[in-house]
Formats: sequence, structure tokens, C-alpha cells
Amino acid sequence: MTRTIELLKSVYGYDKFREGQEAIIDSVLSGNRTLGIMPTGGGKSLTYQIPAMLLPGCTMVISPLISLMKNQVDELVAAGVSATMINSSLDFEEIKARTYDIRRGVYKIFFVAPERLEDAYFYQFIQSLDLSLVVIDEVHVLSQWGHDFRPSYLRAVGLIAGLANHPNVMALTATATEKVQADLVKILAIDKTVKTGFARGNLAIKIEKGLSSGDKLKFVVAYVKNHPDDVGIIYAGTRKKVDELAALLAKSGIVSGRYHAGMSDVEREAAQNGFLYDEFQVIIATNAFGMGINKTNVRYVIHLGMPGSIEAYYQEIGRAGRDGLPSETILLYSARDIQLQRFFIDNAENQDPSYRHRELAKLQEMTAFSATEACLQRYIIQYFGEEMAPCGTCSTCTDTRELTDMTVAAQKVLSNIVRMSQLREGHYSRTQVVSVLRGKLAEKMRWTGFDTLSTYGLMSDWSVKKLNHFVDYLVADGYLLVAGEYNGLSMSEKGVQVLKSEQQVMMREIKVAEAIQKSVASK
Ligand code: ADP
Ligand code: ZN
Repeated sequence: MTRTIELLKSVYGYDKFREGQEAIIDSVLSGNRTLGIMPTGGGKSLTYQIPAMLLPGCTMVISPLISLMKNQVDELVAAGVSATMINSSLDFEEIKARTYDIRRGVYKIFFVAPERLEDAYFYQFIQSLDLSLVVIDEVHVLSQWGHDFRPSYLRAVGLIAGLANHPNVMALTATATEKVQADLVKILAIDKTVKTGFARGNLAIKIEKGLSSGDKLKFVVAYVKNHPDDVGIIYAGTRKKVDELAALLAKSGIVSGRYHAGMSDVEREAAQNGFLYDEFQVIIATNAFGMGINKTNVRYVIHLGMPGSIEAYYQEIGRAGRDGLPSETILLYSARDIQLQRFFIDNAENQDPSYRHRELAKLQEMTAFSATEACLQRYIIQYFGEEMAPCGTCSTCTDTRELTDMTVAAQKVLSNIVRMSQLREGHYSRTQVVSVLRGKLAEKMRWTGFDTLSTYGLMSDWSVKKLNHFVDYLVADGYLLVAGEYNGLSMSEKGVQVLKSEQQVMMREIKVAEAIQKSVASK
């Protein structure tokens, strides 16, 4: 039996390695600078912990969050591995005592935040240490193409490169697009990359489209009520939504935890621990929550709105089913979500044009995913550069509703938009477009002359709600583009093809009431 297998059994109690684990461990032990890419829940932690136990000297793990470190240290100590952390939650005396113990060889592994390396005293300390390995966890934050870019990580990498004791470096992430991977290999001078399959067979990935924001909340309340024994995470786009949903759940007698950036560190840590130690089964959070949360029995992840990128989305839903048991993820998508994400980009601190451009490109990719009628699991896997057969469990693969040919209706909407722009140059909002199609132009808009168009009143038999929804669908499926400050609608290439009858528009009827009933009935 090799030493690595022995440790797997004796320390962790597992019989065999999962895909990729042994390859990463062997590569590190052979002295390669190694990049390990595995999906969330794939089992990355073992891959640095086992080498750390086998290598002489000690291992420094750079980890982004203090709360995360504490969790990891607790787990290691519980497994009988000597580990500690050094961070800003400790006072000077405590830091001194711990560094002293690290130097004495009391600990095999210690965790630090990247900023710690910028402390001259600390940097000198690690210079003088018998340091075999530096592990960079959540390393995608090094790349501008990853989500959640952090400059402090880049500075830390520079400092590590300057260490006179030349420790080996390994880096771990769950983000695997070609762009991020290429970036990391270059920045870290990686010798060997180990990437495992990204499909998560136990996740049933679902998208529910076109619910109004009120109906989204109803959906979630019904879902949580009907899964009383299950642990779940609900991602809400804003703090306000987190609070709103928590209050609604409380009304139904459901205790939930809350987590967002507006809470203090202490409050957030309490929320995280409350979730880890089962004080409540449901946590409602913004995307600030979840990095490194090792709660294995999360049975569902629900998104109240669309995240800003496929990487972020896949990482968030990956927090479900880490124990390998069947779990469900549901994205409640409406075209409005695009506006919220655009708002985040427009108001981001970083307004560097190339950054903006990248963020908008990622949003575009996520929007296309949300609108797809293809297998969702497969779509993501292809996005990460791999192939697989349709999964059979996602909301597309299991959808039995008939597709209806909506080409003629789409042509009416699209030609109306073209005509409006021809008459008065500009792009008009959904409200304006719908009012013309229904023949209900507002008095104050009469000056535009839109009521003289041949498309005026062409869809007067459609209700506002139905037509609004149809326009949203055309946006979501990429027939129309939304741009500008007033979210003006314009034609896409795909839309032009529809007008020329070169492409059909197939749509599944979305029945809001049914979506809610389904969540009630699903247990
Ligand atoms: P990641 O960091 O990649 O998201 P973790 O390292 O937290 O994932 O591992 C996820 C879960 O899988 C943990 O509960 C871990 O104990 C478990 N696990 C890891 N490796 C194995 C293995 N070889 N066999 C069984 N379970 C494993
Ligand atoms: Zn599928």
C-alpha cells in the first residue's frame, strides 16, 4: 500500500481516491508546480493535505476568507492533523506564539490570507522557515477572467516567487474555462495541470423561466415548506431581497439564516456556523456566501435571480450534493435579472474598460445559458471545454411540455420594433413596444406618430402580461437585444433571421401557477 492510500484510510476513512486526487498528489510529491482543477465538492482539500503530511517541513495555505480558514483548521485538527492559522482575528501575542510553534515544527499546515504576506515581519518569518509547499486555494481569483478577481492574490504570488527557500507551489480551483486555466499556468509557472470531469451527475439542474418577482418569492416559500427535512441555500441578488425572503419564511414559521455583505463579521460568522451546525436548515444569502463551505448534505440550491457568470453559477450550485446524493438546483430566471447584473457592472468600483468588457461578456454567456432549450448540464460542460451526452435529469431533459411554434407572433413583435425605429430613430423600451402592439399608445406619446404604423394594434388580442412575457422570452432567447440606459430593444442577428423566415421561434408555454404548484407537489 502506498503512503498516500494509507493516509486516505487512516486520516479520512475513505477507501479509494476520487478522480484526479491521486494524480494531483503524485504530481505535487514529485516536485511539480501543480494546478488542480476539480468541480466544487470534487474533493480538493485532500489533495493538498496529504502532500502536506508527507513532505518534510511545513505547508502554507493561502486562503481567501478568515471564516473559511477556521473551518478548515477545525476539520484538520478533528482528523488528527496539526494545523493552525494566522490572521487579523488574532492579537499580536497570539500571532507571536503561533509563529513560534510553527517554527518549532508543532504544525504541519498553517493558513494565512494573501494580505498577510505583505506584512514585513511575517514575510521575514516565512523566509526563514523550512517551507516545503505553498498552496493557493480558490486560485481563480488570480485571473481577471475568473470571477471575483483579487489583486491581493497577485501581490502574494509575486512575494512567494521571491522566497529564498523556494517552496513548491500548488494551486486549486473549481473554475476551469480555457482562459482562466491559461492565465493561471502563465502567472504561476505551472508544470502540470490535472483537470477532472466537471459533470455532476447527482445534480438535477433546473431553470424556471418567467416568474414575476412576487411569484419567485411564493415559489421559494412553497418549496422550502415542502422540503422540511432538507438543507438548502437560497441565493438572492441583493441584501434587500435576502431580508424580504427571510421575513416571508418567518411568517410561514420557517427559521432561516441570513448572510450578506452588509452584516458585521461577527454576524456573518454566526450565520455561517448556524448553518454548519444545523441551527437552521435554510440560509438565504447573497453571493458573498459559500466559498469553501463544507456542508455536504445540502439538498437544494435556489437562485432567486441569475448570477453574473456561468462560473459563479456553477460554483454556487456545486454546493449542493457534495455527499454525492441526488440534489436539486433551481434558477428562477426572468429577463429583469439581466438589468440587475448590468447595474452591478455599471456600478462596480472597477470601471477599467477591459474589465467592463469581460464582465459584460460573461453576463452575455450566462444570459444565453439561462435562455437555452438545450440540456443544461451538457451546456455547462461544453462551456468548460468538455463533452457529454444529455444528462437526462435537468429541466430541459425532463420537460414534457409541447413546443409551440410562435414564429408568426415573434415576427409581429420584431417588425414592429423595426418600424418604430425607422419612424423615429432610437430604441424603445418594452413598455413602449407593447403599447404600440396593443394599440394603446399613451396620450403623451402621440407626438411620435407610432399610432400611424401598420403594426399599431396588431396584437390587441394579447394581454399586457402575456405580451410582456413574450417580449422577455424573445430577449432571453436572444432574438432581441437590450441596451442603453433605458433598456431599449433592438434586433439581434437571430431576430433578423426570424423576420426573413430563416429561423423558427419555438416556445414552451410557461404557466406561472403551474410552476408554483409543481414546487408544492414535488414532495
Ligand atoms: P472541494 O474543496 O473540492 O469543494 P472537498 O475537499 O471539501 O471538496 O470535498 C468534498 C467532500 O467529499 C468532503 O466531504 C470530503 O470529505 C469528501 N471526499 C473527498 N475525497 C473523498 C474520497 N476519496 N472518498 C470519499 N469522499 C471524499
Ligand atoms: Zn439535461
